[in-house]
Amino acid sequence: MATKIPAAQNRLMKNAVVCKVCKHRMRLDNLKILSGKAKCRKCKSKDFRPVRKK
Ligand SMILES: [Zn+2]
Repeated sequence: MATKIPAAQNRLMKNAVVCKVCKHRMRLDNLKILSGKAKCRKCKSKDFRPVRKK
């Protein structure tokens, strides 16, 4: 999307998640999400989904 460099794009997409509540997009550690330690910076929600949907 934003970049044409495959490696950079991969790195950007890797840990990208979207908050299910406020749709805020950010990068988070997968481990943190799974262990429930991740919180949305905007609404403090713990509900996330991966960015890549299709
Ligand atoms: Zn949120």
